[in-house]
Amino acid sequence: MKEPTFLYGLDLEELTRLAAEHQWPAYRARQIAQWLYRKHIASWDEAKNIPAELPKALGPQWVLRALEFEEASDSAQHESVKFLFKTRDGMLLESVLIAQRDRRTVCVSTQLGCKIGCIFCASGKGKFGRNLTAGEIVEQVAWIEKKNGQPVTNIVFMGVGEPLDNFEATMKALKILQAPWGFGLSSRRITVSTSGITPKIVEFVRRSEGRVRLSVSLHSSDDKRRTELVPVNKKYPLADLERTLRQIHMTLKRDITFEYTLIDGVNDSDEEARGVVRLARPLQAKVNVIPYNPIREMKFRTPSPQTVERFAGVLEKSGVRVTVRRTAGQDINAACGQLRLDRGK
Ligand code: SF4
Repeated sequence: MKEPTFLYGLDLEELTRLAAEHQWPAYRARQIAQWLYRKHIASWDEAKNIPAELPKALGPQWVLRALEFEEASDSAQHESVKFLFKTRDGMLLESVLIAQRDRRTVCVSTQLGCKIGCIFCASGKGKFGRNLTAGEIVEQVAWIEKKNGQPVTNIVFMGVGEPLDNFEATMKALKILQAPWGFGLSSRRITVSTSGITPKIVEFVRRSEGRVRLSVSLHSSDDKRRTELVPVNKKYPLADLERTLRQIHMTLKRDITFEYTLIDGVNDSDEEARGVVRLARPLQAKVNVIPYNPIREMKFRTPSPQTVERFAGVLEKSGVRVTVRRTAGQDINAACGQLRLDRGK
């Protein structure tokens, strides 16, 4: 049997073409987009103003969704829920909902596994599966919004995978998430995180007109150490990253954020902190310090609260904006990629 084609992931132009091919009135394209991206239907029966002949005319080849909901696990403090989905080819993928005050942020995955292979990250340990489609990326948000019953306010592309290594699908998902005919989310509320693939950063900023927030996983200000932690640094070293970020800084309409996973005895020295200041200050970048979230298979340790305070203090005293992120959902294995690793997929 031929591979099915999925409605989730089509943009308005593609839906309009589909309507024209079937000689439906043009407004059907917008109606279908609304049912997909605002009401998040899982079956045509839910789409009240769509005639029953429409799905019949499409035939069995056209399927609404590509993902099946598998399970959701709540953290003890009920502030993060990890969702596990199954793809049509039997792979598991995960997303996290983080609820804090009036914010509901979904952390989406963009790949099944990750080729970057950061040594402290569970996603880089398992076998790389494949890139997710744009539909599979936006479906994570649709499923979570539907299950949770409340609108998602923010999206971060910080789950499993390197978004800029799955560039076209990421760009298309961003389009659907922001479009008025799509999810209608403001670009201010969307963040794409990268390990530092510099040519793709330039392209991403150009294509998104600098509106979508950019977050760079720094993790060390020392070239040698960063290569050990984030192997992509060998190809795109810190000097290249710094040059690229300075180049795009003027076009970016949002602040750059550096993510810094603080690992006990590895990248937590004052010297490292001063290196972060040197990189962050000219860019007026904000730094998110994330105390390392322990993963069973790995030897790294969480830094003490005193170490975190000292490290953040060096940044603060030098005028760098810094936030210390609590490791939300430690009890639900919210370290990226871990649940999938646990299930052996
Ligand atoms: S930290 Fe991000 S880029 Fe690095 S291996 Fe994990 S998912 Fe990939």
